Amino acid sequence: MDCIFCNITKGAIPADILHRDDDVMAFKDINPKAPVHILIIPIKHIETVLDLSDEDNALIGKMVMVANQLAEKEGIDENGFRLVFNCREHGGQEVYHLHLHLMGGRSFRWPPG
Ligand code: AMP
Ligand code: ZN
Repeated sequence: MDCIFCNITKGAIPADILHRDDDVMAFKDINPKAPVHILIIPIKHIETVLDLSDEDNALIGKMVMVANQLAEKEGIDENGFRLVFNCREHGGQEVYHLHLHLMGGRSFRWPPG
């Protein structure tokens, strides 16, 4: 299976990596839609949020905690930010390896388009 984000976890494709531990990795989005746009991914391949199971509860919690830490590091915690999981076609998902978008540095509209 040729997954672009698995290739990033293996170092086969370069990325601007901001965090790495045994379970989670974070790197800058290659086509940022905001001054701060970071993707937080599980190291293990999970296609969408629909493919999560109960045993992944700690993993998802960890992804959110990493996002919080990076938001503080990037200085977007005070003004706030957006966390997004896109799921399948109507959600606008393009890469089928789970990723949490951390976006900040500007204000966003609601609802998104
Ligand atoms: P989504 O539409 O939620 O699947 O978002 C996929 C995101 O991955 C987009 O924001 C892309 O800009 C980003 N992306 C795709 N390829 C790479 C890459 N090689 N390195 C970093 N970000 C990427
Ligand atoms: Zn993958």
